[in-house]
Amino acid sequence: MSIFAKFEDIQKTLAGLSQTGQNPLDVRFDEIRSPVEGFVGGRRVLLFGTSNYLGLTFDADCIEAGVQMLRRSGTGTTGSRIANGTYAGHASLEQQLAQFYGKRSAMVFSTGYQANLGLISALAGRDDHLFIDADSHASIYDACRLSSAEIIRFRHNDADDLARRIGRLKDRPGCRIIVTEGIYSMLGDTAPLREIAAVKRETGSYLIVDEAHSMGVLGARGRGLCEAADVEADVDFVVGTFSKSLGAVGGFAVSDLEGFDILRVAARPYMFTASLPPSIVATVSAALTRIQRDGSLGARVRTNGQRLYDGLKKAGFALGPQPNPVVAVKMPDRDTAVTFWKQLLDEGIYLNLALPPATPASMALLRSSVNALHTDEQIDCAIAAISRVGMRLGVINAAPAKQRAERAEKLALPAE
Ligand code: PMP
Repeated sequence: MSIFAKFEDIQKTLAGLSQTGQNPLDVRFDEIRSPVEGFVGGRRVLLFGTSNYLGLTFDADCIEAGVQMLRRSGTGTTGSRIANGTYAGHASLEQQLAQFYGKRSAMVFSTGYQANLGLISALAGRDDHLFIDADSHASIYDACRLSSAEIIRFRHNDADDLARRIGRLKDRPGCRIIVTEGIYSMLGDTAPLREIAAVKRETGSYLIVDEAHSMGVLGARGRGLCEAADVEADVDFVVGTFSKSLGAVGGFAVSDLEGFDILRVAARPYMFTASLPPSIVATVSAALTRIQRDGSLGARVRTNGQRLYDGLKKAGFALGPQPNPVVAVKMPDRDTAVTFWKQLLDEGIYLNLALPPATPASMALLRSSVNALHTDEQIDCAIAAISRVGMRLGVINAAPAKQRAERAEKLALPAE
């Protein structure tokens, strides 16, 4: 029997996904020309599925900082920090991150995935208890596998359920560690952080918040949901990534707790992997400086998220519960989602197809994300294309569009 026989079910699913002529899990871009424009199969597409929230991937200052450092320090570190040492850039980026969050310490990891793996698995020892939201990202689930603590899931965004489950432990020894996210990446909803922080205080637990999708996006200074919900003092560890708002790759954790630095010799996903290349560190630092100096990008991406959300809602689509830069359109079933996704690509709109098991409640979703550089016209173009395909496939009916046309006629405006 082939060693790959165990993947038969996945193979069948892949074959089904490819029936439209394009496997959504294997889109090949000929070229990405800007944060909003790419080419697939020789055709121009507008990018609405990149998580490039602030649109900094082509920022001139970030590129320049990266190029200069590439020339000065070479292409890579070729090893981990504990083996090959810390470069000046790693240390200064950690300082910059700690200062950005107003916390004592920061640790840089090679990806956000590894930041969760390293922080959670090292913090949660044998006698401890990890409480994770049921809709947690795969990196949080994988961190649990690597940890030897007891794992307890609480209902998504349900602080009462969390409190009940912590209460059931009664006097059992061990730390209680709660893990939640800022903006959830699939539906774009946010955690009820005030309620969760209250549970943390009442139960004497520790609280970790993964701000992967909310750093640079939420909060007056771009510090994420913890800042927006005014609970920063209650949060023991913030985890994040450089791969979204900061437009590069890498991850981090920050904390005010004394003793945090011990994780450098306890977190295996930090210790046993190569550190970030200096050029990446330089682009990340330039991007962070930009956020620190200029809050306009965060404001713009929030406005853009609201515009896309409002437009799709008005068109009659079922969406995630809150307007945010992640806007999820709920599909009636998997096959419709796959066809819808492909027809949108043909219409020149690229977004993400999200299917179970990656989605909450086994939903099929078209997951889009806006960034600060999308223009109103581009967002309206995406809304129009999604509405056209939605009507064609019967996901929405024509009524809202018809109503709009009638209203426009009354006002003697062009009907789109
Ligand atoms: N946490 C969350 C909530 C995420 O969505 C992601 C990536 N999608 C990560 C962590 C991992 O980030 P990275 O891409 O830097 O590995």
